[in-house]
Amino acid sequence: MDDTICAIATAAGVGAISIIKVSGNESINIVNNIFDRDLTKVDSHTINYGHIVDNDEIIDEVMVSIMKAPKTYTKEDVVEINCHGGISATNKVLELLLNNGARLAEPGEFTKRAFLNGRLDLVEAESVMDIIDAKTDNARKLALNGLEGKISNLIHEIVDRLYDINSNIEVNIDYPEYEDIEVMTIDNIKDITKFIDEKLSKLLKESENGKIIKEGINTLIIGRPNVGKSSILNALIDEEKAIVTDIAGTTRDIVEGQIRVNGILLNLIDTAGIRNTEDVVEKIGVEKSLNLINDADLIILVLNNNEKLTKEDKELLELTKDKKRIIAINKIDLESKLDESLLDGEIVKISATKDISLLKDKISDIYNLEELNNKELTYLSNSRQISLVKKAISINNNLVKSVNEGLPIDMLEIDIKEICETLNEIIGESYDDKLIDRLFSNFCLGK
Ligand code: GDP
Repeated sequence: MDDTICAIATAAGVGAISIIKVSGNESINIVNNIFDRDLTKVDSHTINYGHIVDNDEIIDEVMVSIMKAPKTYTKEDVVEINCHGGISATNKVLELLLNNGARLAEPGEFTKRAFLNGRLDLVEAESVMDIIDAKTDNARKLALNGLEGKISNLIHEIVDRLYDINSNIEVNIDYPEYEDIEVMTIDNIKDITKFIDEKLSKLLKESENGKIIKEGINTLIIGRPNVGKSSILNALIDEEKAIVTDIAGTTRDIVEGQIRVNGILLNLIDTAGIRNTEDVVEKIGVEKSLNLINDADLIILVLNNNEKLTKEDKELLELTKDKKRIIAINKIDLESKLDESLLDGEIVKISATKDISLLKDKISDIYNLEELNNKELTYLSNSRQISLVKKAISINNNLVKSVNEGLPIDMLEIDIKEICETLNEIIGESYDDKLIDRLFSNFCLGK
């Protein structure tokens, strides 16, 4: 971390401005070498007008922000050069920085330095990435909660209480004669185990909702040929004016897409393999159908109101019976021939060619999306954090068991310590270098 790093922080391509970031001990000197005014004398947190020069040649007219340690993103000296946003100017400035002693930053290295220098904890650093990745307002708001330290505060609160308990246990053992130290009783420990269980279980539960907000609901629309799957998909997409990124041009080509229902993404899983086949299950194979079904968080099983239930419909009903599922009885504008008494669970009746709003309402209902939108959620942003919270809950359960079995208080210390260590791993108080490298390498360049 002794070297000075630099990277282009703005997106590649042509834009009004590009920002090149430099961080490290030598950042001001290095930029000063290629600037036509003296930056070593300017105050911290100032923006300075001038030119980037390569010997006598002026490369670009720029604004340079000087931010001296420690009040910076990385807690190191940081310089940001705002140059004109062309590819040539930006690359030339970067090249000059590299020639003058800076090193090209790895993806996420600025944030990694912020973490290693104690400016952000691990949860907060991961939230930075979530903010960048956020595709909906809700996802952004949720990520901001992480950055504001809500999870970290909760973890600190639990860990502090546990440390207090452990140190009291130790004092009680080592200095039984001290009368003014609170004597740890089983009741004290029961209180804290209850507190931990409540708080962490709530966090885990909210994280499930958080995952939905962040990543969306993987939704599979499945059904026999001609029941109206494409019509439903297209109607959903037309109504929500899809987030177009990975949606191909013509409706017939659409095999995957993302739409929003009440501000939540529905990731529509590829159903191409299921189209234009005579017998869904037979043609694509039970295994493939099962895989598609397993990968989905939500199944929309489409049936045709205008036909009797077929063997294939029944097979699909059976295959999906244990999943979160909505049975969409489509074509209700046509005569009803379907025996609904054979169906159970969440059912909606729609006409894809006329109105599918009831289907959207149902999705919203079963996920409580309305409530999710309004709620101040705190959530864990990834599987690393989730698995550690699960581990802490399980050690806490052990602790409860030991307490109930009447183990002596000093025997409980080990579990208490282990809960602390596990929770500390979440915020990165203790960490493994390899994991940290892997984690930050997922960040984008220049962040
Ligand atoms: P898929 O094979 O399941 O994707 O079915 P499609 O969406 O291609 O629909 C098959 C046929 O049913 C098309 O001619 C649609 O126009 C028609 N269709 C779809 N939904 C409805 C509906 O609600 N009412 C009526 N009357 N026709 C529909």
